[in-house]
Amino acid sequence: MRSLMYVKPHLLEWREVPAPTLHSGTDALVRPIAASTCDLDRRIVDGGTPMPAPFAIGHEAVGEITDVGDEAAAAGLRQGMRVVIPWHLSCGQCATCRAGLPANCTSTPHLAAFGTPLGGRHGGLFDDLVRVPYAAHNLVALPDGVDPATAASCSDNIVDAFGAVAPHLQARPGADVLVVGGPGRALGLFVVMFAAALTTGEVVYLDKDPDGVALAVRLGATRTLCQDIPERMEDRYPLTVDAAADPAGLACALRSTAPGGVCSARSIYFTDVPLPYFDLYSGSVTLVTGLPQVTPHVPKVLDLIAAGAVDPDPVYSQGLDFDDAAEAIPRLRRKAVFVRSTHQNATTTGASGRIAQRSARTRNNIP
Ligand SMILES: [Zn+2]
Ligand SMILES: [Zn+2]
Repeated sequence: MRSLMYVKPHLLEWREVPAPTLHSGTDALVRPIAASTCDLDRRIVDGGTPMPAPFAIGHEAVGEITDVGDEAAAAGLRQGMRVVIPWHLSCGQCATCRAGLPANCTSTPHLAAFGTPLGGRHGGLFDDLVRVPYAAHNLVALPDGVDPATAASCSDNIVDAFGAVAPHLQARPGADVLVVGGPGRALGLFVVMFAAALTTGEVVYLDKDPDGVALAVRLGATRTLCQDIPERMEDRYPLTVDAAADPAGLACALRSTAPGGVCSARSIYFTDVPLPYFDLYSGSVTLVTGLPQVTPHVPKVLDLIAAGAVDPDPVYSQGLDFDDAAEAIPRLRRKAVFVRSTHQNATTTGASGRIAQRSARTRNNIP
């Protein structure tokens, strides 16, 4: 079968690899049908991570189940079901999984995931097929009426963005929110989308990229600043979010957090970064960080999408086919969703099918 491999900076290749098979009764085999690039993928492709190449890339997708083990079948999984495939692999039963931290599962290797080599090789979500262990726990059924292409990023970025604001706004109803974004990055835009849906306060978005700022307005930002990241904002906010992937963004978010407030740090930094420690200390600011804990929160996020409370579609570059991925991903400067065109004939009648059909026409004219 075909696997999309990160080979070296700015180079992806399709390679033939053995197709996965069922290893255990809890396994399912899943064929990704709509896959999106995570903000981390951009950094991988640019050579900005310490991950040793080559490896299969891609950890955000909706797929269709093609085969299930006995226990997975007994738990209700069946061939043909459409499912969100969380980026991390977890058992659902260890103490950390039960504590709501599946990305820190102790039954699977540390950082076991699709699309990175950090916790073993589990394939990538642009591959023709992946094996999902503990499938009844890991996979989340896609509700009827939600397009696979819309929900592709529920594997990671969309649910990460929900977690960045939802629990903190529950504790601080109506709070103003500051989001520090970065050029080409989707995470901060998804944070704006959820903040706009979940608070009656201001949703302020900072990004030096005019395209990002325009999208933030579309997603519900009430105030935007298109400029370089300042040392701190003039105002203070009860909830701030760093999604800039720039240590200056984290420092600005921390210094702009109101006394007693929370700074939700959602960027990944692979090295130590300086912290304005005395500002945190003297402002009684809480810094919250950690891996995106996806699985328990996917159903809530899918409900919000299905109900029309949020619409992630504007954030994706669309009209792309899986066949475009190797060539397009190194060139695209923003998040994109790819739809498997061979899939549309079988089962897709919604926007995914239309995207795939459009893609066939526009393949030689990728944005
Ligand atoms: Zn990711
Ligand atoms: Zn576990």
